[in-house]
Amino acid sequence: MIVKKTWRQKSILFLTGFFLISLLFACQTASINESSTSTATPVTEKTFSTQSFAVAYPDRELTTSPARLPELPYAANALEKAIDAETMKLHHDRHHAAYVKNLNAALQKYPELQNKSVEAMLRDLNSVPEDIRETVRNNGGGHLNHTIFWQIMSPNGGGEPTGEIAQQINQTFGSFDAFKKQFNQAGGDRFGSGWVWLVRNPQNQLQIVTTPNQDSPIMDSLYPIMGNDVWEHAYYLRYQNQRAEYLNNWWNVVNWSEINRRIQAVSQQDDT
Ligand code: MN
Repeated sequence: MIVKKTWRQKSILFLTGFFLISLLFACQTASINESSTSTATPVTEKTFSTQSFAVAYPDRELTTSPARLPELPYAANALEKAIDAETMKLHHDRHHAAYVKNLNAALQKYPELQNKSVEAMLRDLNSVPEDIRETVRNNGGGHLNHTIFWQIMSPNGGGEPTGEIAQQINQTFGSFDAFKKQFNQAGGDRFGSGWVWLVRNPQNQLQIVTTPNQDSPIMDSLYPIMGNDVWEHAYYLRYQNQRAEYLNNWWNVVNWSEINRRIQAVSQQDDT
């Protein structure tokens, strides 16, 4: 016996089928969106994934076409454990901004140099025309040094180093405390304005060095792993003339995961 479906029954069957198929599509789309969001923008990578944060890694150099002031990767008051908000604002918005502005102004006269990275010019300063060499040295160096500086600090920083950097510090200096002491001593002894650095030398050894003014370690074929700014503009508002106290407190905001990233980047360069 053939059961003939009524018009009403056919409509219900059609609508139910349509609803089920739509539901299936909706679920698939949702699951695709979900997975692409979590892989494309993992929270920990976010700060460093944009071009403006490309910095001083062997494979990602700072562009000069034109040079750009990178944003701070945290709020100005985020590093209060070591550095007050007012100092951070002046330091980034005025001092670092001025290095970028002066560098771009100097390069205007030499469009061919605008295709070079800051690092390439600093590594080979003699190839930079004499009339802007000092300006590129000071302002290109200032741009590079500060870009690294903002990144190797974090509100979640401080404490003992971890991973590869911890291992290499222990190997080279005996212990983290011994390293800290030498680093602070070198920073304190740097007369006038400059920087104290942990670098890797061409013999693949870690070394503490200081540079005057805005000189970058890469001018001497040294790769900067981490560095602290000992210009008075970096600490004077809170610490006045107590540079040693600033150097001591600074360890509370040191971003060991970024420092590990830097040491791994330069190790990988050796492998290629
Ligand atoms: Mn500075």
